[in-house]
Amino acid sequence: MKLHFLGTGGYQPNERRHTACLMIPEVGLVLDAGTGAFRIPSLLQTRELDIYLTHAHLDHIVGLTYLLVPLIDGRLDRARVFGTRRVLDAIRTHLFSEPVFPVFPDNMELIDIEKRRKLEVGGRVTIEHKSLPSHPGGSRAYRVSWKKGRGSRSFAYVTDTSVDGSYNKFIDKVPLLIHECYFGDEKANIALRTGHSTTSQVATLARAVRAKRLLLVHVDPCTDSDDPIGIQHAIDHFPNSQIATDLLEIDLNSKDWTNSSTM
Ligand SMILES: [Zn+2]
Ligand SMILES: [Zn+2]
Repeated sequence: MKLHFLGTGGYQPNERRHTACLMIPEVGLVLDAGTGAFRIPSLLQTRELDIYLTHAHLDHIVGLTYLLVPLIDGRLDRARVFGTRRVLDAIRTHLFSEPVFPVFPDNMELIDIEKRRKLEVGGRVTIEHKSLPSHPGGSRAYRVSWKKGRGSRSFAYVTDTSVDGSYNKFIDKVPLLIHECYFGDEKANIALRTGHSTTSQVATLARAVRAKRLLLVHVDPCTDSDDPIGIQHAIDHFPNSQIATDLLEIDLNSKDWTNSSTM
């Protein structure tokens, strides 16, 4: 089972990164639908997609409109979009409003997750979620788990939040932590004001929750350097840290979390 990083930047695309989108093609799971979602159709392995949204900021939802073509040309039978009621209302009212994007596909369904603590995708993975209050309008953390041998494995996807201690328990002992890191350490004040995280904060968190591997996403797109956030500061606190790149894919069942490859 492979996890594909289709968009690893925040806010806007740049020459290296599209905005937030992760996908496990084998089970038809997508996390966030930013501009990286244009890559979804070429990876489809299922007739249905379950798309879980962290929040309704444009860099996480605009790619829902890119699914119109595969939903009407028959490559997809159905897409289910999961989020809080507030997020789904924003999508229906604003993104798919008549003047902005006039066609809401018949086979796209919007599903409120608030009353469902645990959800299942493709009969293979389970999803739990937790609200993240520090970002303007709030965001949602997801923990994705699946069976592996006699035990289970999981990863957490946490984006658009400050490191505020409110979700440590939710991600405790997660082997793979995928966390936003919009700013380098020198911008800690802006990070706090805008509900984002900095390099050392995230790496310290990874160590505190006893993760095994940390992949940083949703980095500042306003510089397209290899290292917009000062990765060495993360490595100093948590050696197995890496900035994820677009088109990175990782084998979720690999014995060794350091075993990654780029397409
Ligand atoms: Zn964002
Ligand atoms: Zn946001």
